[in-house]
Amino acid sequence: MDNKNNKNNPNNNRQGWGVILITTLLVTFVVMGLFSLMRGSGPEEISYDKFLSLVEDGDVKEVTLNSNRIYITLTDEARAEQIMDQTDSGSQSGSFSDIMNQIESRSGSSGTESSPDYYTAYVNDYSLVQTLDEAGVEFQGEVQDTMGQLFFELFVTLILPIGLMVALLSYLMRKMSKGGGMMGIGKSNAKMYMEKETGVTFQDVAGEDEAKESLQEVVDFLHNPGKYSGIGAKLPKGALLVGPPGTGKTLLAKAVAGEAKVPFFSLSGSAFVEMYVGVGASRVRDLFKQAQQQAPCIVFIDEIDAIGKTRDSALGGNDEREQTLNQLLAEMDGFDTNKGLLILAATNRPEILDPALLRPGRFDRRIIVDKPDLKGRVDILKVHAKDVRMDESVDLEAIALATSGAVGSDLANMINEAAINAVKHGRQVVSQKDLFEAVEVVLVGKEKKDRIMSKEERRIVSYHEVGHALVTALQKNTEPVQKITIVPRTMGALGYVMQTPEEEKFLNTKKELEAMIVVALGGRAAEELVFETVTTGAANDIEQATKTARAMITQYGMSDRFGLMGLESIQNRYLDGRAVLNCGEATASEIDEEVMKMLKGAYAEAKRLLAENRDALDKIAAFLIEKETITGKEFMKIFREVKGIPEPEEGGEEPKEEKERIAMRPVEHTEDAPAPSEPPKTEEP
Ligand code: ADP
Repeated sequence: MDNKNNKNNPNNNRQGWGVILITTLLVTFVVMGLFSLMRGSGPEEISYDKFLSLVEDGDVKEVTLNSNRIYITLTDEARAEQIMDQTDSGSQSGSFSDIMNQIESRSGSSGTESSPDYYTAYVNDYSLVQTLDEAGVEFQGEVQDTMGQLFFELFVTLILPIGLMVALLSYLMRKMSKGGGMMGIGKSNAKMYMEKETGVTFQDVAGEDEAKESLQEVVDFLHNPGKYSGIGAKLPKGALLVGPPGTGKTLLAKAVAGEAKVPFFSLSGSAFVEMYVGVGASRVRDLFKQAQQQAPCIVFIDEIDAIGKTRDSALGGNDEREQTLNQLLAEMDGFDTNKGLLILAATNRPEILDPALLRPGRFDRRIIVDKPDLKGRVDILKVHAKDVRMDESVDLEAIALATSGAVGSDLANMINEAAINAVKHGRQVVSQKDLFEAVEVVLVGKEKKDRIMSKEERRIVSYHEVGHALVTALQKNTEPVQKITIVPRTMGALGYVMQTPEEEKFLNTKKELEAMIVVALGGRAAEELVFETVTTGAANDIEQATKTARAMITQYGMSDRFGLMGLESIQNRYLDGRAVLNCGEATASEIDEEVMKMLKGAYAEAKRLLAENRDALDKIAAFLIEKETITGKEFMKIFREVKGIPEPEEGGEEPKEEKERIAMRPVEHTEDAPAPSEPPKTEEP
C-alpha cells in the first residue's frame, strides 16, 4: 500500500510546510554566505571614469579585456599607496609588515602573476586601446566561452541551491512518511494493517462456541449478501466483540475474514486519537474510503473505547475525540452494506461506550467473548498443542483444571513455555512436568535462583506456606494441595501453595468463601503462632481475604447484618472487576466494621486450627525447609502420619463431600505477589 492518504492529512501538511520553510531559509543563508565569500576575495567594481583616471595617473600596470568586463591590475606602488590610504582611514594603524603582507597577498602568492584589483564594465570606447598604449599599460584580450560562463553562473546561483533543496526535502519527506506503516494513514503512529488472506479459520479458535455461532451468520452475509437483501433483510454493519484481554477477540475477527475469504484490515482505536482537532476524523474518512474500495472486506478496530467513550463528559468533553466519534457514526450510517463491508470492533469496557455506537445500524450485535470454561481451556490447549510434540504423560485436562481463570493467550503462552523448557533440557518431546512448570511460570514467574534467603527467612516462609496448606487440609471446604514451595519466583512470591480443584465449579457457597478467607489468613496465623511476631509477607493474603469478605457482604448478600441489600456494583467486569459502593457514608463505615469482624473471626479460626495441630505444622515445615519443594502427596503423607489417619486405598480416596470443591484459584499466592485469581464468580446458575 502506498501513502496516497498523506495529502488528506492536515497534520502531515502542517509539518511538511514547516520543514520546507526551514530548509528554504537554510539553503538561502548558505548560498548568500558563499556569494559574499566569493565576492570578498575577488576584484572590486569601479566606474569606467575612475578606471580612465587611474590609467591617466599611471597607476595601472595591466589590463585584461573580455567581451563584457575590463579587469584592472594596479602597479605595485599604486597598490601600496591605496592600502596605506585604507589603513589610515581605518581606526587601527597597521604596521609596515602588515601592509607588505597585504600587498603580497593581493599580488598572488607566487609574486610573478598578480590578480586584478578592480574590474569595470566594458563600454564601446574606441579610443581605449590608444589611451592604454599611450599610458604604457600592458593589455590583452581574453578569448572566452560565454555560454560556458553563463551556464556556470546559472549553475552556481540557481541550479545548485534548488537541487540541494529538492534533495534535502525529498529525503525528509521520505523519512517522515516511513513510519506510516503499511498503509500510512497519516503519521507514524497510525498503523493500519491489511492482510489479503488471514489464513485463520474458526477451527483455530477453540471454545467460544456461542461467539463463533453468531459470527458464522456474519460470514454467510459476506458470502452471499444477495440472499439476504433479496427478502429485504438489512445486513449487519458492525459487531462488537466484548470480553477480557487475551480471550481471542482479534483471532475471531481474523477467523471471520479467513472464513469469508475477504481481506482483513485492522487498526487500533488509539490510532485515531491525535492532538490536533480534525486529524482523527479525517483518518476515519480515509479508513472507510479505503475499505469501500477493497470491499468485500472486514475492518477490525481494536480497543474501540479509545474513540467510542460516551460523549457527555463532566469536564466539557474532548473536542477531537468527539469529532472522531461523530465521523465514525456518520461513516457507519453512510456505507452500503450490499457491498459486503463489515466493521468488527473489540473492547473490554463496553459500559463506557457511547450509546449511539450501539444503536441498530451500527455496532448492533454484541458478541461476548468471555474467559473459557474447563472444556474451553482443554480445547484451546489442544489447538495450541497440535504443532508441539508431546509424550504420553501429557494430560491436558489436568492442566486445564489447574488453570481456572486463565485466558486463551495465557494457555497459548504456557504451551510455548513448556516446549522451550523441554528444548532447554535437551529433550525432543514435551512432558506433563514441563507443562506444569510452564503453568507456574505464566502465573507466578520463573524461579529466582539467585535470591538467597537467610536461614531465618526460610524458616518463616516455610511456616507461612505450611500454615496455608495445613488450614486447607484441615477444612473440608477447600481445594486439595498440589504443591508447596519456598523457591522464590520472579513475580515477587517468596513461596506459595498450589491448589488444584478436582472439577470446575461456577458457584461458591458461603461456607466455601469463609474457608477461603481462613486459608488466606493461615500463613500469617502460623507466623504469629510460631515466631510470636509477624512479617510483611502476608500483604497479598490480607488483600485477598479482605476482598472476598467485602464481596460476601456487599455483593452476595451473605451477611446477617445487611442481608440481601446490594451495596456495591461492579464497574468494569472484563478488566479488574473494580466495584463501587452504592450506599451512604454511614452504611459504608458499618460495612467496614462488618468486614473487620469477619476477618478477625477467620484469623482466630486459623490460629485455633494451627495451634491444635502444632505437631503437624512443625513436622511439615521442617520437611519443607529441607526439601524446598514438596508435593501434595508428600504433604498428606506426613499429615496423616502425625494425625494417625490411615492411608486411603488406591482409587477410592477422599469422602464424597470433599469432592465438591471450588474452582477458583489456581495458585494460592501467599507472599507479596499479585494474585491472578479473580473474585469469586457470580454468575447465576
Ligand atoms: P484479544 O484480542 O481478545 O486480546 P487475541 O485474539 O489477540 O486476544 O489472542 C491472543 C492469542 O491468544 C491468539 O493469537 C491465540 O494464539 C491465543 N488465543 C486466545 N484465545 C484463543 C482461543 N479461543 N483459541 C485459540 N487460541 C486463542
